[in-house]
Amino acid sequence: MLAKWKQFLGKIKILRSLKARLFFIILLAGIIPSTGMRYAILQSYEDRSVSVRIADVQNQFKILANHLIIYGYLHDTSSEVVNSELDQLSNLYDGRVLIIDKNFKVIKDTYGISEGKTVISEEVIKCFKGTSTTNYDRKNGYIEITTPIVDTVVSTGAASPKPEDTGEANLAEGVILSSVSTNTIMTTLDILNRRALIVELIALVFIVAIALAMAKLLTAPFERVTQAINDVKAGFTDEQISVNDYVETEHIVDAFNQLLGRMKVLDDSRQEFVSNVSHELKTPLTSMKVLADSLLMQEEVPAELYKEFMTDIANEIERENKIINDLLSLVKMDKKAADINITSVDINELLELILKRLRPIARKKEIEIIFESIRPVTAEVDEVKLTLALSNLVENAIKYNNPSGWVKVTLDADHQFFSVEVADSGIGIPEEAQEHIYERFYRVDKSHSREIGGTGLGLAITRSVILMHRGSIKVMSEEGKGTVFTVKIPLIHPV
Ligand code: ADP
Repeated sequence: MLAKWKQFLGKIKILRSLKARLFFIILLAGIIPSTGMRYAILQSYEDRSVSVRIADVQNQFKILANHLIIYGYLHDTSSEVVNSELDQLSNLYDGRVLIIDKNFKVIKDTYGISEGKTVISEEVIKCFKGTSTTNYDRKNGYIEITTPIVDTVVSTGAASPKPEDTGEANLAEGVILSSVSTNTIMTTLDILNRRALIVELIALVFIVAIALAMAKLLTAPFERVTQAINDVKAGFTDEQISVNDYVETEHIVDAFNQLLGRMKVLDDSRQEFVSNVSHELKTPLTSMKVLADSLLMQEEVPAELYKEFMTDIANEIERENKIINDLLSLVKMDKKAADINITSVDINELLELILKRLRPIARKKEIEIIFESIRPVTAEVDEVKLTLALSNLVENAIKYNNPSGWVKVTLDADHQFFSVEVADSGIGIPEEAQEHIYERFYRVDKSHSREIGGTGLGLAITRSVILMHRGSIKVMSEEGKGTVFTVKIPLIHPV
């Protein structure tokens, strides 16, 4: 029910505005009590007026009932005193009076229509037992009142037994059945209603004005938030924004400021990356220029020198090429993980292939590569990307090793993850450098890394690939002793 109502409200476009909702709520909060109050006041005025009129009429007719007894009117209706009193009363109350005798016969009707007729109604029967009745007919605008005509001299003596106790015994000698008009009450009510309506309309104008002002005032902080965000968007400011009017606006602004902070960090790192890339790409070019210039400046350069310089230039070109290739791999990794191509891969086989490819390089440096596979492992991975990541680790273990050193690769798995450990007997990584080694272009010893053909991008690529597989990478190293990289990757790729 509530959901349907919300859906309905959502469909009415204007009601989707907080300002409009506040306006309507304040408007209703103003109108409902004032209209309710008008109805309540008019209703209580009407009730009070009717009961006053009834009490008044009942008093008058009680006196009349006494006169009817005194003048024996129930036996003889010729008494002028009573007749004129009857006319007076019916004029006064703008109504009709019927006098009914013990035989339920109308002996007098001020309208002169029903004389001689019999009236047996519930009210009349009740009244004969001594109880006066009243009946307010709002629709037709009159009150019907019955008053018993009781001979007080007789009834006081016989008054002790109650009518109920005496069964059917009638206490009254006759009944006065009167209907009095409520026109005067209705006219006053009408006037009052009209006045109250005018007051209410004036109040409504004020309520609308207040509702409009309040709705605008209460939603102003949200507009300030939008304005502040637009200012940032337009580039007028890149400061943190602040709108502290409400706890809610504070939350929105806090979240926005955090987003802004993250964007700034991203922007800074992008700028740093671009400047690093330019620098890295420029270095081989500068070397090549120096080599070429020195050849050009000399006359009659011996062929051996040409050859030597050209070999250096070729090496620099190769280096430039490697940097560009690494950069392209990194950019690919930075793209969404949706690009990942997961298949079921035999990890033992994958490692065997990597090591087979790298063994000749290791042999050149007289480094021994040992592979220990604790159990066969098949896992859901991106074969190409994981090969690149693990190759980088083994390549580093060879590159930063000492001559006649060793590299040990161990593959193991539990029921959830497989782990690849790449340990070496190399130069190690100083403790303070360990947290930076995954940063792009970071190298512990720049010149050494350059010498052995490092770009500073290898571990950044490796880490990206492992994170893409929802895995982790850890390093343990001691300078001069060696390094151990441990990679853990889920056997089943989490979606
Ligand atoms: P590079 O292309 O320079 O090898 P990486 O990102 O692969 O770049 O590695 C970053 C730095 O971390 C390297 O320059 C090197 O100083 C250090 N490093 C990485 N692996 C090892 C290792 N096995 N032993 C010693 N130092 C290492």
